[in-house]
Amino acid sequence: MNVVATGMEGVLREIEARKDEIVALTQDLIRFPTINPPGEAYRPCAEYLGQRLARRGMKVEYVRAEGTPGDSDKYPRINVVARHDGGRPGPCVHFNGHLDVVQTGAGWTVDPFGGLVRDGKVYGRGACDMKGGLAAAVVAVEALIDSGMELPGALEISGTVDEETGGYGGVAYLAERGWFSKPRVDHVIIPEPLNVDRVCIGHRGVWWAEIETLGRQAHGSMPFLGDSAIRHMSAVLEKFERKLYPALAARHSDMPVVPDGARQSTMNINSVHGGEAESHSGLPAPCVADSCRMVIDRRFLIEESLSSVQDEVKDLLDQLAGERPGFRYKMRELFNVQPTMADRNGPVATATANAVRKILGRDAQIVCSPGTYDQKHVDRIGRLKDCIAYGPGVLDLAHQPDEWVGIQDMVDAAKVMAVSAMSLLTRA
Ligand SMILES: [Zn+2]
Repeated sequence: MNVVATGMEGVLREIEARKDEIVALTQDLIRFPTINPPGEAYRPCAEYLGQRLARRGMKVEYVRAEGTPGDSDKYPRINVVARHDGGRPGPCVHFNGHLDVVQTGAGWTVDPFGGLVRDGKVYGRGACDMKGGLAAAVVAVEALIDSGMELPGALEISGTVDEETGGYGGVAYLAERGWFSKPRVDHVIIPEPLNVDRVCIGHRGVWWAEIETLGRQAHGSMPFLGDSAIRHMSAVLEKFERKLYPALAARHSDMPVVPDGARQSTMNINSVHGGEAESHSGLPAPCVADSCRMVIDRRFLIEESLSSVQDEVKDLLDQLAGERPGFRYKMRELFNVQPTMADRNGPVATATANAVRKILGRDAQIVCSPGTYDQKHVDRIGRLKDCIAYGPGVLDLAHQPDEWVGIQDMVDAAKVMAVSAMSLLTRA
Protein backbone atom coordinates (compact mmCIF):
# COMPACT_ATOMS: atom_id res chain seq x y z
CA MET A 1 0.00 0.00 0.00
CA ASN A 2 1.46 3.38 -0.92
CA VAL A 3 1.37 6.59 1.06
CA VAL A 4 -1.45 8.06 -1.01
CA ALA A 5 -3.64 4.99 -0.51
CA THR A 6 -3.03 5.05 3.25
CA GLY A 7 -3.72 8.77 3.32
CA MET A 8 -6.94 8.27 1.40
CA GLU A 9 -8.28 5.80 3.94
CA GLY A 10 -7.61 8.42 6.60
CA VAL A 11 -9.48 11.04 4.58
CA LEU A 12 -12.49 8.72 4.25
CA ARG A 13 -12.56 8.08 8.00
CA GLU A 14 -12.29 11.81 8.56
CA ILE A 15 -15.22 12.55 6.24
CA GLU A 16 -17.33 9.96 8.07
CA ALA A 17 -16.39 11.64 11.35
CA ARG A 18 -17.48 15.01 9.95
CA LYS A 19 -21.04 13.91 9.22
CA ASP A 20 -22.44 16.46 11.69
CA GLU A 21 -20.35 19.17 10.09
CA ILE A 22 -21.78 18.37 6.65
CA VAL A 23 -25.28 18.58 8.12
CA ALA A 24 -24.54 21.87 9.89
CA LEU A 25 -23.05 23.42 6.77
CA THR A 26 -26.06 22.33 4.70
CA GLN A 27 -28.40 23.87 7.28
CA ASP A 28 -26.42 27.10 7.35
CA LEU A 29 -26.53 27.37 3.54
CA ILE A 30 -30.27 26.65 3.47
CA ARG A 31 -30.86 29.45 5.99
CA PHE A 32 -29.69 32.01 3.42
CA PRO A 33 -32.89 32.47 1.38
CA THR A 34 -31.07 32.82 -1.94
CA ILE A 35 -34.24 32.90 -4.00
CA ASN A 36 -33.75 33.61 -7.68
CA PRO A 37 -35.32 35.64 -9.11
CA PRO A 38 -34.66 38.22 -7.79
CA GLY A 39 -31.37 36.95 -6.29
CA GLU A 40 -31.89 37.39 -2.54
CA ALA A 41 -29.06 37.09 -0.01
CA TYR A 42 -26.35 36.31 -2.53
CA ARG A 43 -23.73 38.44 -0.80
CA PRO A 44 -24.08 37.03 2.74
CA CYS A 45 -24.24 33.48 1.39
CA ALA A 46 -21.12 33.92 -0.76
CA GLU A 47 -19.28 35.64 2.10
CA TYR A 48 -20.25 32.93 4.56
CA LEU A 49 -18.77 30.32 2.25
CA GLY A 50 -15.72 32.44 1.43
CA GLN A 51 -14.94 33.13 5.09
CA ARG A 52 -15.16 29.45 5.94
CA LEU A 53 -12.79 28.49 3.13
CA ALA A 54 -10.40 31.35 3.90
CA ARG A 55 -10.06 29.93 7.43
CA ARG A 56 -8.81 26.74 5.74
CA GLY A 57 -6.04 28.77 4.15
CA MET A 58 -7.71 28.87 0.74
CA LYS A 59 -7.20 31.95 -1.41
CA VAL A 60 -10.67 33.48 -1.74
CA GLU A 61 -11.90 35.90 -4.37
CA TYR A 62 -15.29 37.48 -4.86
CA VAL A 63 -16.44 38.31 -8.35
CA ARG A 64 -19.49 40.48 -8.89
CA ALA A 65 -21.04 39.99 -12.31
CA GLU A 66 -21.77 43.63 -12.92
CA GLY A 67 -24.18 44.44 -15.66
CA THR A 68 -25.55 40.91 -16.03
CA PRO A 69 -29.33 40.33 -15.94
CA GLY A 70 -30.72 41.16 -12.52
CA ASP A 71 -27.51 42.67 -11.14
CA SER A 72 -28.11 45.80 -9.06
CA ASP A 73 -26.85 47.29 -5.82
CA LYS A 74 -29.88 45.77 -4.13
CA TYR A 75 -29.36 42.35 -5.74
CA PRO A 76 -25.65 42.13 -6.59
CA ARG A 77 -24.56 38.99 -8.44
CA ILE A 78 -21.74 37.94 -6.10
CA ASN A 79 -19.75 34.79 -6.85
CA VAL A 80 -17.04 33.31 -4.65
CA VAL A 81 -14.05 31.25 -5.80
CA ALA A 82 -11.58 29.62 -3.40
CA ARG A 83 -8.32 27.93 -4.34
CA HIS A 84 -5.84 25.72 -2.54
CA ASP A 85 -2.51 25.23 -4.26
CA GLY A 86 -0.65 22.05 -3.40
CA GLY A 87 3.07 21.84 -2.94
CA ARG A 88 3.85 20.75 -6.50
CA PRO A 89 2.62 21.59 -9.98
CA GLY A 90 -0.27 19.51 -11.23
CA PRO A 91 -3.81 19.69 -12.52
CA CYS A 92 -6.65 21.64 -10.92
CA VAL A 93 -9.89 19.99 -9.84
CA HIS A 94 -12.73 22.47 -9.45
CA PHE A 95 -16.00 21.90 -7.57
CA ASN A 96 -18.75 24.31 -8.61
CA GLY A 97 -22.06 24.71 -6.81
CA HIS A 98 -24.78 27.25 -7.44
CA LEU A 99 -25.93 29.23 -4.43
CA ASP A 100 -29.33 30.21 -5.79
CA VAL A 101 -32.61 28.37 -5.30
CA VAL A 102 -35.99 28.60 -6.98
CA GLN A 103 -39.11 30.10 -5.38
CA THR A 104 -40.58 28.01 -2.60
CA GLY A 105 -44.08 27.68 -4.06
CA ALA A 106 -46.98 26.12 -2.19
CA GLY A 107 -47.29 22.82 -0.38
CA TRP A 108 -44.54 23.01 2.25
CA THR A 109 -45.12 21.31 5.59
CA VAL A 110 -41.77 22.50 7.03
CA ASP A 111 -40.02 25.89 7.04
CA PRO A 112 -38.32 26.09 3.62
CA PHE A 113 -35.42 28.07 5.13
CA GLY A 114 -35.26 26.38 8.53
CA GLY A 115 -32.89 23.52 7.74
CA LEU A 116 -34.91 20.99 9.72
CA VAL A 117 -33.19 17.63 10.34
CA ARG A 118 -35.49 14.63 10.62
CA ASP A 119 -35.09 10.91 9.97
CA GLY A 120 -31.66 11.19 8.40
CA LYS A 121 -32.63 14.02 6.05
CA VAL A 122 -32.07 17.76 5.92
CA TYR A 123 -35.12 19.67 4.66
CA GLY A 124 -35.34 23.02 2.96
CA ARG A 125 -35.43 24.86 -0.33
CA GLY A 126 -32.10 24.05 -1.97
CA ALA A 127 -31.34 21.06 0.30
CA CYS A 128 -31.28 18.79 -2.73
CA ASP A 129 -30.66 21.40 -5.48
CA MET A 130 -27.92 21.95 -4.48
CA LYS A 131 -26.71 23.20 -1.12
CA GLY A 132 -26.34 19.64 0.18
CA GLY A 133 -24.07 18.83 -2.74
CA LEU A 134 -22.05 21.98 -2.21
CA ALA A 135 -21.66 21.19 1.50
CA ALA A 136 -20.44 17.68 0.61
CA ALA A 137 -17.88 19.11 -1.83
CA VAL A 138 -16.66 21.64 0.74
CA VAL A 139 -16.12 18.99 3.41
CA ALA A 140 -14.44 16.68 0.87
CA VAL A 141 -11.95 19.40 -0.08
CA GLU A 142 -11.37 20.42 3.54
CA ALA A 143 -10.67 16.82 4.52
CA LEU A 144 -8.14 16.52 1.68
CA ILE A 145 -6.40 19.74 2.74
CA ASP A 146 -6.46 18.81 6.43
CA SER A 147 -4.97 15.37 5.75
CA GLY A 148 -1.56 16.96 5.31
CA MET A 149 -0.93 14.83 2.25
CA GLU A 150 1.43 16.58 -0.15
CA LEU A 151 -1.04 16.93 -3.00
CA PRO A 152 0.12 18.12 -6.39
CA GLY A 153 -1.93 20.64 -8.35
CA ALA A 154 -4.81 22.63 -6.97
CA LEU A 155 -8.29 22.27 -5.54
CA GLU A 156 -10.91 24.92 -6.16
CA ILE A 157 -14.44 25.49 -4.91
CA SER A 158 -16.80 28.06 -6.33
CA GLY A 159 -20.21 29.18 -5.16
CA THR A 160 -21.93 30.83 -8.10
CA VAL A 161 -25.23 32.55 -8.68
CA ASP A 162 -28.11 32.60 -11.13
CA GLU A 163 -27.92 28.98 -12.30
CA GLU A 164 -31.69 28.74 -12.06
CA THR A 165 -32.07 31.62 -14.52
CA GLY A 166 -29.41 30.58 -17.01
CA GLY A 167 -26.16 31.20 -15.16
CA TYR A 168 -25.30 34.46 -16.94
CA GLY A 169 -24.23 36.24 -13.75
CA GLY A 170 -22.57 33.10 -12.44
CA VAL A 171 -20.64 30.41 -14.30
CA ALA A 172 -21.08 32.09 -17.71
CA TYR A 173 -19.61 35.34 -16.40
CA LEU A 174 -16.67 33.58 -14.76
CA ALA A 175 -16.10 31.36 -17.80
CA GLU A 176 -15.89 34.42 -20.05
CA ARG A 177 -13.06 35.64 -17.84
CA GLY A 178 -11.02 32.43 -17.84
CA TRP A 179 -12.07 30.99 -14.50
CA PHE A 180 -13.27 27.76 -16.14
CA SER A 181 -10.51 27.24 -18.70
CA LYS A 182 -7.10 25.69 -18.94
CA PRO A 183 -4.50 26.31 -17.68
CA ARG A 184 -6.32 27.43 -14.54
CA VAL A 185 -8.72 24.47 -14.34
CA ASP A 186 -8.53 20.95 -15.78
CA HIS A 187 -11.48 19.02 -14.35
CA VAL A 188 -14.85 20.24 -13.08
CA ILE A 189 -17.38 18.47 -10.87
CA ILE A 190 -20.75 20.16 -10.35
CA PRO A 191 -22.60 18.56 -7.40
CA GLU A 192 -26.07 18.90 -8.93
CA PRO A 193 -28.59 16.39 -7.58
CA LEU A 194 -28.40 13.49 -9.99
CA ASN A 195 -28.39 10.76 -7.29
CA VAL A 196 -25.41 9.53 -5.32
CA ASP A 197 -24.61 6.62 -7.66
CA ARG A 198 -24.93 8.43 -10.98
CA VAL A 199 -22.31 10.27 -12.98
CA CYS A 200 -23.94 12.85 -15.23
CA ILE A 201 -21.96 13.66 -18.36
CA GLY A 202 -24.20 16.29 -19.92
CA HIS A 203 -27.65 17.62 -20.69
CA ARG A 204 -30.10 18.14 -23.54
CA GLY A 205 -30.49 21.42 -25.38
CA VAL A 206 -33.31 23.91 -24.98
CA TRP A 207 -35.24 25.96 -27.47
CA TRP A 208 -37.97 28.26 -26.18
CA ALA A 209 -40.05 30.05 -28.75
CA GLU A 210 -43.24 32.01 -29.12
CA ILE A 211 -45.56 31.37 -32.03
CA GLU A 212 -48.25 33.91 -32.77
CA THR A 213 -51.11 33.30 -35.16
CA LEU A 214 -52.77 36.35 -36.63
CA GLY A 215 -56.43 36.92 -37.42
CA ARG A 216 -58.82 39.80 -38.00
CA GLN A 217 -61.09 41.26 -35.38
CA ALA A 218 -64.82 41.36 -35.95
CA HIS A 219 -68.06 41.33 -33.93
CA GLY A 220 -68.59 38.10 -32.03
CA SER A 221 -72.12 37.81 -33.41
CA MET A 222 -70.75 37.75 -36.95
CA PRO A 223 -67.53 35.76 -36.67
CA PHE A 224 -67.65 35.05 -40.42
CA LEU A 225 -66.70 38.69 -40.98
CA GLY A 226 -63.44 38.21 -39.10
CA ASP A 227 -60.78 35.56 -38.98
CA SER A 228 -60.11 33.83 -35.67
CA ALA A 229 -56.49 33.64 -34.61
CA ILE A 230 -57.53 31.05 -32.03
CA ARG A 231 -58.91 28.70 -34.70
CA HIS A 232 -55.65 29.11 -36.59
CA MET A 233 -53.80 28.19 -33.40
CA SER A 234 -55.94 25.09 -33.02
CA ALA A 235 -54.70 24.07 -36.47
CA VAL A 236 -51.13 24.51 -35.20
CA LEU A 237 -51.91 22.31 -32.20
CA GLU A 238 -53.42 19.68 -34.44
CA LYS A 239 -50.36 19.75 -36.69
CA PHE A 240 -48.14 19.26 -33.66
CA GLU A 241 -50.26 16.32 -32.47
CA ARG A 242 -50.32 14.59 -35.85
CA LYS A 243 -46.84 15.35 -37.17
CA LEU A 244 -44.44 16.76 -34.60
CA TYR A 245 -45.07 14.67 -31.49
CA PRO A 246 -44.86 11.32 -33.33
CA ALA A 247 -41.63 12.49 -35.01
CA LEU A 248 -40.10 13.49 -31.67
CA ALA A 249 -41.10 10.22 -30.03
CA ALA A 250 -39.43 8.23 -32.80
CA ARG A 251 -36.09 9.99 -32.36
CA HIS A 252 -33.61 8.11 -30.21
CA SER A 253 -30.39 9.22 -28.72
CA ASP A 254 -27.01 8.01 -27.62
CA MET A 255 -27.39 10.42 -24.72
CA PRO A 256 -28.23 8.30 -21.65
CA VAL A 257 -30.84 10.79 -20.45
CA VAL A 258 -32.76 9.96 -17.28
CA PRO A 259 -35.60 9.45 -16.59
CA ASP A 260 -36.40 7.20 -19.56
CA GLY A 261 -39.19 9.47 -20.80
CA ALA A 262 -36.62 12.19 -21.44
CA ARG A 263 -34.37 9.97 -23.57
CA GLN A 264 -35.87 11.47 -26.69
CA SER A 265 -36.75 14.87 -27.99
CA THR A 266 -39.60 16.42 -26.04
CA MET A 267 -41.75 19.50 -26.31
CA ASN A 268 -43.91 21.13 -23.69
CA ILE A 269 -46.55 23.65 -24.63
CA ASN A 270 -46.05 26.11 -21.80
CA SER A 271 -48.94 28.40 -22.51
CA VAL A 272 -51.56 29.54 -25.00
CA HIS A 273 -52.97 33.06 -24.83
CA GLY A 274 -55.66 34.25 -27.22
CA GLY A 275 -58.41 36.84 -27.47
CA GLU A 276 -59.53 39.54 -25.11
CA ALA A 277 -59.75 38.98 -21.37
CA GLU A 278 -63.17 39.04 -19.70
CA SER A 279 -64.17 42.45 -18.37
CA HIS A 280 -64.44 43.29 -14.66
CA SER A 281 -68.10 42.29 -14.76
CA GLY A 282 -66.98 38.81 -15.80
CA LEU A 283 -68.50 39.10 -19.24
CA PRO A 284 -66.46 38.27 -22.33
CA ALA A 285 -65.52 40.74 -25.01
CA PRO A 286 -67.73 39.94 -28.01
CA CYS A 287 -64.87 39.93 -30.47
CA VAL A 288 -63.16 37.58 -32.84
CA ALA A 289 -59.55 37.14 -31.66
CA ASP A 290 -57.00 38.83 -33.87
CA SER A 291 -54.03 37.29 -32.09
CA CYS A 292 -53.18 34.05 -30.34
CA ARG A 293 -49.79 33.25 -28.84
CA MET A 294 -48.26 29.96 -27.81
CA VAL A 295 -45.00 29.42 -25.94
CA ILE A 296 -43.18 26.15 -26.53
CA ASP A 297 -40.33 24.51 -24.64
CA ARG A 298 -38.50 22.14 -26.93
CA ARG A 299 -35.73 19.98 -25.43
CA PHE A 300 -33.36 18.50 -27.96
CA LEU A 301 -30.65 15.92 -28.28
CA ILE A 302 -26.94 16.06 -29.05
CA GLU A 303 -27.75 14.45 -32.42
CA GLU A 304 -30.00 17.39 -33.38
CA SER A 305 -28.87 20.86 -34.32
CA LEU A 306 -30.60 23.97 -33.07
CA SER A 307 -31.34 25.01 -36.65
CA SER A 308 -32.97 21.65 -37.47
CA VAL A 309 -35.14 22.01 -34.36
CA GLN A 310 -36.19 25.51 -35.41
CA ASP A 311 -36.75 24.52 -39.03
CA GLU A 312 -38.90 21.55 -38.07
CA VAL A 313 -41.44 23.82 -36.39
CA LYS A 314 -41.16 26.50 -39.03
CA ASP A 315 -41.77 23.96 -41.81
CA LEU A 316 -45.02 22.84 -40.18
CA LEU A 317 -46.18 26.44 -39.87
CA ASP A 318 -45.26 27.09 -43.51
CA GLN A 319 -47.22 23.99 -44.52
CA LEU A 320 -50.25 25.44 -42.74
CA ALA A 321 -49.77 28.72 -44.55
CA GLY A 322 -50.04 26.76 -47.80
CA GLU A 323 -52.99 24.62 -46.73
CA ARG A 324 -55.17 26.90 -44.69
CA PRO A 325 -56.78 30.06 -46.07
CA GLY A 326 -55.81 33.17 -44.15
CA PHE A 327 -53.15 31.45 -42.03
CA ARG A 328 -50.46 33.92 -41.00
CA TYR A 329 -47.95 33.57 -38.19
CA LYS A 330 -44.93 35.07 -36.50
CA MET A 331 -42.30 33.09 -34.67
CA ARG A 332 -39.84 34.47 -32.17
CA GLU A 333 -37.07 32.73 -30.26
CA LEU A 334 -37.06 33.40 -26.53
CA PHE A 335 -34.04 31.40 -25.41
CA ASN A 336 -31.74 28.62 -26.46
CA VAL A 337 -29.13 26.37 -24.91
CA GLN A 338 -26.99 23.93 -26.84
CA PRO A 339 -26.84 20.35 -25.63
CA THR A 340 -23.56 19.24 -24.13
CA MET A 341 -22.00 15.88 -23.36
CA ALA A 342 -18.58 15.06 -21.93
CA ASP A 343 -16.66 11.93 -22.89
CA ARG A 344 -17.93 9.13 -20.67
CA ASN A 345 -14.41 7.68 -20.76
CA GLY A 346 -12.77 11.03 -20.01
CA PRO A 347 -10.72 11.59 -16.84
CA VAL A 348 -13.35 13.12 -14.58
CA ALA A 349 -16.16 10.72 -15.52
CA THR A 350 -13.87 7.71 -15.15
CA ALA A 351 -12.37 8.86 -11.86
CA THR A 352 -15.80 9.57 -10.40
CA ALA A 353 -17.34 6.31 -11.63
CA ASN A 354 -14.40 4.41 -10.09
CA ALA A 355 -14.88 6.32 -6.85
CA VAL A 356 -18.61 5.43 -6.78
CA ARG A 357 -17.67 1.76 -7.14
CA LYS A 358 -15.12 2.03 -4.34
CA ILE A 359 -17.37 3.88 -1.90
CA LEU A 360 -20.80 2.44 -2.67
CA GLY A 361 -19.75 -0.99 -3.88
CA ARG A 362 -21.83 -0.79 -7.04
CA ASP A 363 -21.33 0.39 -10.59
CA ALA A 364 -22.11 4.02 -11.30
CA GLN A 365 -24.82 4.70 -13.83
CA ILE A 366 -23.63 7.10 -16.53
CA VAL A 367 -26.48 9.50 -17.28
CA CYS A 368 -27.43 12.79 -18.87
CA SER A 369 -29.76 15.32 -17.30
CA PRO A 370 -33.18 16.09 -18.82
CA GLY A 371 -32.74 19.79 -18.01
CA THR A 372 -29.73 22.01 -18.39
CA TYR A 373 -27.29 23.23 -15.78
CA ASP A 374 -24.04 25.17 -15.78
CA GLN A 375 -22.01 22.53 -17.63
CA LYS A 376 -23.02 24.27 -20.87
CA HIS A 377 -20.98 27.35 -19.93
CA VAL A 378 -17.93 25.36 -18.86
CA ASP A 379 -18.07 23.54 -22.20
CA ARG A 380 -19.11 26.29 -24.63
CA ILE A 381 -17.50 29.35 -23.07
CA GLY A 382 -14.67 27.84 -21.00
CA ARG A 383 -13.89 25.30 -23.75
CA LEU A 384 -13.35 22.77 -21.02
CA LYS A 385 -14.83 19.39 -21.91
CA ASP A 386 -13.85 17.45 -18.82
CA CYS A 387 -16.84 18.43 -16.73
CA ILE A 388 -19.55 16.33 -15.09
CA ALA A 389 -22.33 16.67 -12.57
CA TYR A 390 -22.14 14.42 -9.55
CA GLY A 391 -23.95 15.01 -6.28
CA PRO A 392 -25.98 13.49 -3.49
CA GLY A 393 -29.53 14.79 -4.00
CA VAL A 394 -32.41 12.84 -5.52
CA LEU A 395 -33.11 14.28 -8.97
CA ASP A 396 -36.90 14.08 -8.71
CA LEU A 397 -36.99 16.20 -5.53
CA ALA A 398 -35.41 19.28 -7.07
CA HIS A 399 -37.71 22.34 -7.07
CA GLN A 400 -40.44 20.45 -5.16
CA PRO A 401 -42.09 21.38 -1.84
CA ASP A 402 -40.49 19.67 1.19
CA GLU A 403 -37.27 19.20 -0.75
CA TRP A 404 -34.68 17.22 1.24
CA VAL A 405 -31.25 15.65 0.98
CA GLY A 406 -30.21 12.40 2.65
CA ILE A 407 -27.44 12.75 5.23
CA GLN A 408 -25.74 9.45 4.44
CA ASP A 409 -25.94 10.31 0.73
CA MET A 410 -24.07 13.56 1.44
CA VAL A 411 -21.39 11.72 3.41
CA ASP A 412 -21.02 9.10 0.66
CA ALA A 413 -20.93 11.77 -2.05
CA ALA A 414 -18.25 13.69 -0.13
CA LYS A 415 -16.17 10.49 -0.02
CA VAL A 416 -16.70 9.90 -3.74
CA MET A 417 -15.67 13.48 -4.52
CA ALA A 418 -12.56 13.20 -2.35
CA VAL A 419 -11.49 9.92 -3.96
CA SER A 420 -12.20 11.26 -7.44
CA ALA A 421 -10.28 14.51 -6.83
CA MET A 422 -7.38 12.59 -5.36
CA SER A 423 -7.11 10.29 -8.34
CA LEU A 424 -7.37 13.21 -10.79
CA LEU A 425 -4.62 15.10 -8.98
CA THR A 426 -2.27 12.15 -8.81
CA ARG A 427 -2.91 10.46 -12.17
CA ALA A 428 0.19 10.10 -14.26
ZN1 LIG B 1 -29.33 22.96 -9.52
